[in-house]
Amino acid sequence: MEKEQLALYGGTPVRQEKIYYGHQQITEEDIEAVAAALRAPLITQGPQTKGVERELEALTGAGNAVLCSSGTAALHVACAAAGIGSGDEVITTPFTFAATANSVLYLGGRPVFADIRPDTYNIDPEQVRKKITPATRAVIAVDYAGQPADLDELSALCKSHGLVLIEDAAHSIGSLYKGRSVGSLADLTTFSFHPVKTVTSGEGGAILTNDAVSAQACRQLCQHGIRREFPGRDVSPWYYEQVSLGYNYRITDFQAMLLHSQLQRLQQYKQRRQQIVEIYNEAFAPYPALICPYQAQACDVCWHLYVLRLVPERLRCDRRTFFAALSAENLQPQVHYIPVYWHPYYRSLGYTRGACPCAESAYETVLSLPLYPAMSDQDVQDTIRAVKKVTEYFSI
Ligand SMILES: *Cc1c(COP(=O)(O)O)cnc(C)c1O
Repeated sequence: MEKEQLALYGGTPVRQEKIYYGHQQITEEDIEAVAAALRAPLITQGPQTKGVERELEALTGAGNAVLCSSGTAALHVACAAAGIGSGDEVITTPFTFAATANSVLYLGGRPVFADIRPDTYNIDPEQVRKKITPATRAVIAVDYAGQPADLDELSALCKSHGLVLIEDAAHSIGSLYKGRSVGSLADLTTFSFHPVKTVTSGEGGAILTNDAVSAQACRQLCQHGIRREFPGRDVSPWYYEQVSLGYNYRITDFQAMLLHSQLQRLQQYKQRRQQIVEIYNEAFAPYPALICPYQAQACDVCWHLYVLRLVPERLRCDRRTFFAALSAENLQPQVHYIPVYWHPYYRSLGYTRGACPCAESAYETVLSLPLYPAMSDQDVQDTIRAVKKVTEYFSI
């Protein structure tokens, strides 16, 4: 059979309009919710934010939710609330967005990278164990692509060594681990509501915890370290105290209301994401050059990313050419992630290549395909056609 000429080499692209790996969906209801919030007397520090925090608690089963200005802010204050400070070591994955490890650096701590599992791409509890030293204070796991990390193993390990477990759940709102909701599983969990994530508030984030004292610490750190309530003390009505060095990490009420409106569709989004993942898996399974995402038995995943892995031995092109060929078909993939310690800034801190071979080899071979609920069936079919076309062209 004649192979279809790739758009990369002058053939006709599978589609005319570019499609990206992720995109928000903003409905008329979302716009109405934001407009109504803008008409309210308070557009920040109003009652709306508190209401949405209660919704996140109900959704996740966490005792406390604190909304803030971004997922990065959430990680920063979660690490601060965990007591991370100068010289403390925090074990985390290199297969993440740099913000995960940066949050440790903000506090003068040192990120220590432990390698990932080759199947789920999540941090490997055995590798974590090997990195524990007397200076270790916490572990930050990332739920890569939406799939919860090995939280039972990590929790047990953290408990037995007196470490705090933080879960960077920027990808995994709506996912379940052994039937329990993400947000209720680690000591502290953080969400991101950036537009590329499952639900958005524009920019925004949240910290979830069952520990009321940690929640109070996070809340205070998001508001300059200011305290306003003094039970049992007779204080003047204007009185407040700054008791720690905090930040302005507040979310606005109109962002919170955008999130509220989006959360109404979380289950619908989850189903659509799962449906697209199943359609992709079925379409790509016959190709020995492609490895579809692995799903752990313990997880019911609200997929954030669809990560396809290339098998270099089965292809007569490198990943860069494969990527360029998909782009030329107007299917724009992405690569998640460059190992954090490869970045020049981390190299300047003394980190070197080779430390986590699984993460490095995953980085060399993965591609994220378009996955978001606003994709039409045609978008899904175009994606499949483009991937098949490029795979068939280069397969050995
Ligand atoms: C998006 C993301 C963050 C940062 O969230 P922001 O809201 O963009 O600050 C942190 N960690 C991971 C794994 C992410 O994907």
